[in-house]
Amino acid sequence: MLEDKTPQRTQLSQLGEFGLIDHLTKNFDVKNASTLKSIGDDAAVLDFGTKKAVVSTDLLIEGVHFDLAYMPLRHLGYKAVVVNLSDICAMNAKPTQITVSVAVSNRFPLEALEELFDGITLAAKVYNIDVIGGDTTSSQKGLIISITAIGEANEDEIVYRNGAKEGDLLIVTGDLGSAYMGLQVLEREKQVFQVNPNNQPDLDAYTYLIERQLKPEARTDIRELLEQLNVKPTSMIDVSDGLSSEILHICKQSKVGCNLYEEKIPVDPQFINVCEEFNIDSTTIAINGGEDYELLFTIALDDFDKIKANPNFTVVGHIVKEEESSHLITRANTKIPLKARGWNALEE
Ligand SMILES: [Mg+2]
Repeated sequence: MLEDKTPQRTQLSQLGEFGLIDHLTKNFDVKNASTLKSIGDDAAVLDFGTKKAVVSTDLLIEGVHFDLAYMPLRHLGYKAVVVNLSDICAMNAKPTQITVSVAVSNRFPLEALEELFDGITLAAKVYNIDVIGGDTTSSQKGLIISITAIGEANEDEIVYRNGAKEGDLLIVTGDLGSAYMGLQVLEREKQVFQVNPNNQPDLDAYTYLIERQLKPEARTDIRELLEQLNVKPTSMIDVSDGLSSEILHICKQSKVGCNLYEEKIPVDPQFINVCEEFNIDSTTIAINGGEDYELLFTIALDDFDKIKANPNFTVVGHIVKEEESSHLITRANTKIPLKARGWNALEE
């Protein structure tokens, strides 16, 4: 599917490592006051003043985390940044800097790395973050990307996973499951393409799902929104591995249980249609499908009035005592133990 329309292939060895770094980083400018020194010395220098620094890192391996058959390099660069910024958002911090390290095999020409860095540059612009360093090296096989994201917050603003209390409301932003179904659509089209390369896929019915998979966004807006509403979550995490898995992380670290209500889980109409087409149970995907990069958090019941009218938030359940454990309450009002992967739980 990924057709190379520009057959120009510049060998990386023509530039050498330092030439390559200069070439790929020439568009990075400094936007944040906390970046005292960016790329160009042995290390970057950051100054957060009275604030705290929040740091998160991620490693993406070709064939394990992404498939270049349907993931354009530009989207991959963008997404690699977004997934890291999402972790900073999950601490209720503001992302400010990233470092980018890539290892590539000789199968990748300069033009491929330029596409990857175009996506990284776009994400840095959209999210107003500085690229302050990194490394480039060769790999024996495939593409490896490691990004470290840094953010800032006042100490009292930072939200951990361990603060949920009995009676708190469980809230999720946006909608869930679409990124996973987008991946299923892309996998299916890849197989069709392998059988018949002349088959041009018609993906009009799947645009939202595919966008959620190929170009997710980090919810940097939620921190500001919650501040305006004067709500501080008691715990928070981002939904990268699936709702039930993330809920269980919060419950374990907070030493609580929870009731999650099937009928409350927010999904997109396109997601429902495609689950029917694939003959897959939509709730199973909505609670176990990953890569939505929405935020899951708990708030005190007293704060409910402040968020209830806001379309960004859906109350999906509430926190109970640890002894009561964690359950999905189905539409038929049956109680199913929540598991990190709910396939088996739903089949019971
Ligand atoms: Mg996370």
